[in-house]
Amino acid sequence: KLYNQVQDLKGNIRVYCRVRPFLPGQSNLSTVGHIDDGSITILTPPKYGKEGHKSFTFNKVFGPFATQEEVFSDTQPLIRSALDGYNVCIFAYGQTGAGKTYTMSGPKVLTEQSFGVNYRALNDLFHISKERKDTFCYEISVQMIEIYNEQNLSPYCPHKPLHVDTLDIRNSSQTGFAVPDANSVPVTSTTEVIELMDIGQKNRAVSSTSMNDRSSRSHSCLTIHVQGRELASGVVVRGCMHLVDLAGSERVNKSEVKGDRLKEAQHINKSLAALGDVISALAQKSSHIPYRNSKLTQLLQDSLGGQAKTLMFVHISPEFDAVSETLSTLKFAERVA
Ligand code: ADP
Ligand code: MG
Repeated sequence: KLYNQVQDLKGNIRVYCRVRPFLPGQSNLSTVGHIDDGSITILTPPKYGKEGHKSFTFNKVFGPFATQEEVFSDTQPLIRSALDGYNVCIFAYGQTGAGKTYTMSGPKVLTEQSFGVNYRALNDLFHISKERKDTFCYEISVQMIEIYNEQNLSPYCPHKPLHVDTLDIRNSSQTGFAVPDANSVPVTSTTEVIELMDIGQKNRAVSSTSMNDRSSRSHSCLTIHVQGRELASGVVVRGCMHLVDLAGSERVNKSEVKGDRLKEAQHINKSLAALGDVISALAQKSSHIPYRNSKLTQLLQDSLGGQAKTLMFVHISPEFDAVSETLSTLKFAERVA
């Protein structure tokens, strides 16, 4: 009974953990001990305590051999919710290199098997909307926004390379919190979306040459807007899905970085902490949800809490060298789970 109550409370928030496999050339000394469906044990060096291991529990744990298809199959129910008029957020959290982009988009060279959550989600949306074509008419559009340094909100597709355009988040009764000045591009097939994402990736890559891999230091948010009109009644339902590849969560050593790089790191810490605060306040049904503490949580305000559904993928690297980041990632995740 108690278990059910806990489930009820946190029913709209789920946390999945995914472990990246070793990459070619990496030594196989793993920090990951036991994994089962819902828990993971990390082997820890002596400075983390005498036990030599720490265990964490999540809604689901995907080991290094989990396929993209397996990971997506547990995500799929959320896709249907967007077509039914719910707002959905899916986040990828973790240190740089732990596999966030792999989960959300896939590897650099894509094959059908390696498609990430975003392509599969859109594929499903198109598929289900076709199945319902005798009763509903759906319009689907996508918007790609990058949030950098807590201030710059720039659309990176279909626009050309990121300008320092700072767009505003506005609230309206029709669309809720949104960025009206960022183009929303209507799409009708997965192929079209793949082309758009390619353009988006290239735009981000171009702007990052001057600032050594900016993509790991900004949040990238693919938003899919779904509008469905019931043919018989004319009633319109709106839902949306945000697929967010977060900035790397690694802590930087203050003695090693200064200036812009330090400022960036501080912005990232602030906005990831703000996201953690919002999700844990929601999970605890707190009366005050601190949305206003970051651009990211402001942007997603309508899609976090209430009837909205949230899924957080936390990514960890298996390397022993990464153990301190791994523990801090899992502690973050445990707080929101
Ligand atoms: P992040 O976006 O968190 O910085 P990436 O997704 O770019 O990390 O992953 C880092 C590297 O590891 C990439 O080369 C990626 O293709 C590879 N990788 C990540 N996750 C997996 C996985 N589950 N299976 C195989 N390769 C992976
Ligand atoms: Mg990445």
